Amino acid sequence: MEFHKEAAPSVAEACAVAIPVRLQSLVVRHGFGGLIHFPARPLVDCRLAEPLALWIGRVVAPVLAESFSSSLRTVRTGPGFECRNRNNETAGKMSAHAIGFALDISGFELANGKALSIGSTGEPVVQEALQTVRTAACGWFTTVLGPGSDAAHEDHLHVDIQPHGANGRYRICE
Ligand SMILES: [Zn+2]
Repeated sequence: MEFHKEAAPSVAEACAVAIPVRLQSLVVRHGFGGLIHFPARPLVDCRLAEPLALWIGRVVAPVLAESFSSSLRTVRTGPGFECRNRNNETAGKMSAHAIGFALDISGFELANGKALSIGSTGEPVVQEALQTVRTAACGWFTTVLGPGSDAAHEDHLHVDIQPHGANGRYRICE
């Protein structure tokens, strides 16, 4: 994973990224291999970067390569860090985005130009591939939300590493 160390964003006290890194690209050796770009250059905590690299490198890249005979080149994301409450509500719990523990993924682009958008309908092979990578994401992240979870996640996959429950091992995988 290629990233730049980043100065901690100066914002409200409740929002803080302990180990801030800005994702740039990822080299994968599975599937067709190659360099995968994160054009939005999301800012996340380094502890999120690791499972992200493993999930994309070991599952997303090979599954998409197998399904479409082309290599994964681009992961479309949101900004990662955002100082806000869950689902942008004015009250309630802070979002995992507010500490750099979450990333929203809106889609993937392949070397042959094909774009796969989260929440798109149509082509069964696309739906099947996106469902496969989504299900597998639950092995690396503590929260995985997407289309069908709730209205706030109809067009992207939200993955985060926020601990849930008393022992921190509970997962929200919807
Ligand atoms: Zn999110």
